[in-house]
Amino acid sequence: MFQTLKAQAPDKILSLMQAYKADDRDTKIDLGVGVYKDASGNTPVMRAVKEAERRLVAEQTTKAYTGLAGDPAFADAMIDLLLADTVQRGRIAAIATPGGTGAIRQALEMVKLAAPGATIWISNPSWPNHASIIKFLGLPLREYRYFDEASRGVDFDGMIADLSTVAEGDVVLLHGCCHNPTGANPTLDQWDQIIATLQKVQAVPFVDVAYQGFGDGLDQDAQATRKIAAAFPNVMIAASCSKNFGIYRERTGILMGIARDADEAKLTQANLNFLNRQNYSFPPDHGARVVTTILTDPALRADWEAELEETRNGMLGLRKQLADELRQRANDDRFDFIADHRGMFSRLGTTEAKVEILRADHGIYMVSDSRMNIAGLNAETVPILAQAIVDAGI
Ligand code: PMP
Repeated sequence: MFQTLKAQAPDKILSLMQAYKADDRDTKIDLGVGVYKDASGNTPVMRAVKEAERRLVAEQTTKAYTGLAGDPAFADAMIDLLLADTVQRGRIAAIATPGGTGAIRQALEMVKLAAPGATIWISNPSWPNHASIIKFLGLPLREYRYFDEASRGVDFDGMIADLSTVAEGDVVLLHGCCHNPTGANPTLDQWDQIIATLQKVQAVPFVDVAYQGFGDGLDQDAQATRKIAAAFPNVMIAASCSKNFGIYRERTGILMGIARDADEAKLTQANLNFLNRQNYSFPPDHGARVVTTILTDPALRADWEAELEETRNGMLGLRKQLADELRQRANDDRFDFIADHRGMFSRLGTTEAKVEILRADHGIYMVSDSRMNIAGLNAETVPILAQAIVDAGI
């Protein structure tokens, strides 16, 4: 059987990680994989996570199965974190999923069930796994313009023009905050116009939120998602706890489906449970329970929020330092966009050949589309990167 298999193209980011490991220069800098790293290059377990895990080990009395949707308290806590009181709880169906990726996969399976002819629209560019999963499921895929190569901001006119052509019932995937891979995000006024455009064509928004708390703050990063949630009869939201709780390998995420009313929410919930049953039965629980423990304990929550704020401010500081260094070294302000971008990534906006020069001549590793992980930097490596960018003639 296996002899019929076709070779799979190697994952670009994972190949980059291997090349970085194999590089013996001690000045090398890893700006590749999308994992938060502190100034020493470590991805720490957050304090509140350690404490919640300690309590779980001490107090948990059973490892019996949860429900198909996962622990209902996890859904309540995540809905509160992301949507606050924007939408009546009775209109929201939700399932715990293995990470944000699991939520995205289940949302797309939901489209297959509920609207098999619908086209899924994604930003150009987007997180590569979006297109990959959509294609794997055999769903029709189209892209809308998103990134303005000249300003490295959002190509807002192009985005609105493309979204105006979406057919009724098509699904439009939007990054709720901290766009991956570009780092460029619409303003809140622009979100209002995006919403008005999608309402006009009667599209179904599908929001991917993987970095709440990494941009402008927990509430600020949820603003666009809340606006969308309040504006449409049906919305899907895939949220990941990997980054903002630092529990990547625990595979913790949630898919929310906002329905027209309580009856439709029950129907949606039953179908989401069915999809969990088909794909893996019960979703993973450990990470979800850690998240619930943190969000529902005022002291733990305050400590988590404080550590997340430090993380967020650290990345903002690195952005500002890099933009300042580049302004001085290149003697112009064309890199100021790095300070305006939000989240863990910025797309530098250069050719694959220049990215290769950075790797070969300077030991600086970024994804070939020039996406850099800002958290891979520290105060000492920022000037080195800035000089390398200038030397490479970017
Ligand atoms: N969406 C986006 C845009 C992402 O960048 C990521 C993580 N790289 C995810 C979803 C999923 O994250 P995970 O499955 O690790 O929770």
